[in-house]
Amino acid sequence: MSDSVSELGRWISRHRRVFVLTGAGCSTASGIPDYRDENGEWKRRPPVMIQAFRTQEAVYRRYWARAYAGWPRFSAAAPGAAHQALAAWERAGNLESLVTQNVDGLHQRAGSRSVIDLHGRLEDVVCLGCRERTSRAALQDVIAAANPAWHAVSVAAPDGDAQIDDVAIQSFVPPRCDRCGGALKPDVVFFGENVPADRYAQARDALARADALLVAGSSLMVYSGFRFAQQAHEAGVPIAIVNRGRTRGDDLAALKIEGDVGTVLTEATGRNGRV
Ligand SMILES: [Zn+2]
Repeated sequence: MSDSVSELGRWISRHRRVFVLTGAGCSTASGIPDYRDENGEWKRRPPVMIQAFRTQEAVYRRYWARAYAGWPRFSAAAPGAAHQALAAWERAGNLESLVTQNVDGLHQRAGSRSVIDLHGRLEDVVCLGCRERTSRAALQDVIAAANPAWHAVSVAAPDGDAQIDDVAIQSFVPPRCDRCGGALKPDVVFFGENVPADRYAQARDALARADALLVAGSSLMVYSGFRFAQQAHEAGVPIAIVNRGRTRGDDLAALKIEGDVGTVLTEATGRNGRV
């Protein structure tokens, strides 16, 4: 175990109620790639903005074509070392709250219980017209039935969509609400959208009860995550960060470890979990 990982293990065991904020870096080992590189810059075309999704038919069609193509790989992803380490730590140690920016549900599948899905879950779909909720898995079959001849070679992206060519997208028939004909949207926070107020309040209250903040696998480039680091810093709550690459919170952290979040957390919490 490296010195820095040992230091993180000691840092964890010094606290009683650790609030953990996780991001895309926890799920890359599960085959769900991160949008951002090690400098926090976009690796590929930036994700869909909510305003364009709501108002432009071409954007709506492209979103759903990519989501449809990416779903088999996204839904087959299994929890990785980071998810397993956090679930074990919650069962055995002082992990009090787990707030994730990921929409893949992998923390819950690994066994974590006190999870707040800050940006929602991709497995649920909501109608923007009548607010009816449906399951994303069931919608996949509906889309398949409406697009019997449609095939695309997909490359997964973190929100479950895929990179596919524009010609294929032209012929794609996107889904509509079967009750009102309205636009359907996965129940996740899109770029340009706010985290629902009650969900944010729940996470903020959890942070107020915590005596330490650990950021795991997030560059904190999205403000909805970064503001937890700001709040902790302002409240004098110590911050540790485990991430591959720089983060927006590095200057606020008492401890920063560069590395694979699964490996680091497994080593650092393994000892803590046995206490
Ligand atoms: Zn509807």
